[in-house]
Amino acid sequence: MNQTIYLDNAATTRTKPQVVEAMLPYFTEHYGNPSSVYEFSAPCKQAIAGAREIIAKSLGAKPNEIYFTAGGTESDNWAIKATAEAYESKGKHIITSKIEHHGVIHTCEYLEKRGFEVTYVDVDENGIIKLDELKKAIRPDTILISVMFANNEIGTIEPIKEIGAIAREHGILFHTDAVQAYGHIPIHVDEYNIDMLSSSAHKINGPKGIGFLYIRTGLKTRSFVHGGAQERKRRGGTENVPGIVGYGRAAEIAMDSMEERDKKERELRDYLIERVTAEVPYVRLNGHRTKRLSNNANFAFQFIEGESLLIMLDGSGICGSSGSACTSGSLDPSHVLLAIGLPHEIAHGSLRLTVSEENTREEMDFVVERIKEIVKRLRDMSPLYEDFVKNQKQ
Ligand code: PLP
Repeated sequence: MNQTIYLDNAATTRTKPQVVEAMLPYFTEHYGNPSSVYEFSAPCKQAIAGAREIIAKSLGAKPNEIYFTAGGTESDNWAIKATAEAYESKGKHIITSKIEHHGVIHTCEYLEKRGFEVTYVDVDENGIIKLDELKKAIRPDTILISVMFANNEIGTIEPIKEIGAIAREHGILFHTDAVQAYGHIPIHVDEYNIDMLSSSAHKINGPKGIGFLYIRTGLKTRSFVHGGAQERKRRGGTENVPGIVGYGRAAEIAMDSMEERDKKERELRDYLIERVTAEVPYVRLNGHRTKRLSNNANFAFQFIEGESLLIMLDGSGICGSSGSACTSGSLDPSHVLLAIGLPHEIAHGSLRLTVSEENTREEMDFVVERIKEIVKRLRDMSPLYEDFVKNQKQ
């Protein structure tokens, strides 16, 4: 196969041609500033309102509860920092999990340096948050629970309904980072008792650098970006009109195609998992077997370095990831894999492959064959593996 096989859809996705098509007029034709009063800017204002409506509807929310941001990281920062600031007179304690995206974890660490206390709740061996620990962590001064909808590395889907119910019962605000879940799993903010929700367009075939934060009506929240009156005075700055339009279109397509896409991706993903776990020795699947995103496969291969495997797969035109996109480049094993109890040496041998509806079974076959060859080659060079084989023979 001479072409690229893209299996890193959790890192980002291809912008759909229909999305690009919807965006183009807002660069070249309707380029007015939405804040201007003249008629020329009216289509821009209307397009923003249209996208906001599509997105609100997709979550069972109201349009004025959707605030456009520059992506998932900004939405996470906003939800957590602004809640901390607005509710600090009530308390300075926040609960989150050990497997959150760095957009949440590093924001919590920032707040810890400013006098807040954060409890990082454990997850089990499949990456599911321990609800009994979460309940025990609740204190009279707890102001926020922030738990991701689905994990970006191992794909595990968290018990969001239960967490929402616990938060509501205790009068605590509930934020969820739904960057990997939105557009893949049906979400209804009222059913799940979600008070704030982060999302990002580029994970659902939309453009990069645009996201939203859902904020339930009635919440005390602060402006995140101080400036003009955009986004109901809460996030100043001229709107990214083409980005917003693109997000609206991508959300519309994602909602309409969710069931069919889920089926296609699940079939490919399951085929990949079945073949890899059956045909490669000393491999385990990370994350929950069934409560997982339909496009996610994450393996840990014993006795090899995930980075070496990635580089050799890249040599064959295969794009994967050894951790989240944001942490690759760092040599530390992923905090998610350590949190599910993998020892360092096994966590280092991890490979995340995330499929899309555009992948084919033929590509999966090619990838499995390449993985088998490369893993064998790397193990043949590994002193750890040599020792293991020797010990087994004794
Ligand atoms: N949260 C999760 C769960 C993610 O997977 C990502 C991106 O990988 C982000 C947040 C950050 O989103 P963005 O790239 O839009 O800042």
